[in-house]
Amino acid sequence: MMIKEKKQKKEPENKTAGTRGEKKLKGNQKIALERIYRLFELAQGNEEYSKRYLQLAKRIGEKCRVSVPKELKEKYCKKCFSLKITQKKEEPFLVVKCNECGFTKKFGVLEKK
Ligand SMILES: [Zn+2]
Repeated sequence: MMIKEKKQKKEPENKTAGTRGEKKLKGNQKIALERIYRLFELAQGNEEYSKRYLQLAKRIGEKCRVSVPKELKEKYCKKCFSLKITQKKEEPFLVVKCNECGFTKKFGVLEKK
């Protein structure tokens, strides 16, 4: 009996073990991030569906393990997904208050020096 050698597809062995490069985004994460930005644009242009768009953006982020960029987080209420917020600068924080549910969130702005 002849046993033919099957050519097995070798899986790439260069698994980056131990290195949790959070800044290195995988292909689908890049797309997810683009989608989040896109949905945000849509939300800003459409008041009626803005909350739905923002919820969707958040869900995409959760699915692909991408966090919503900080610059976007400052623009909506994470509790009720409303875009109706007021930003107030209280050094060294940026205080974001939701005009709909009254939820407030502080953002530190000390990162850049
Ligand atoms: Zn709110």
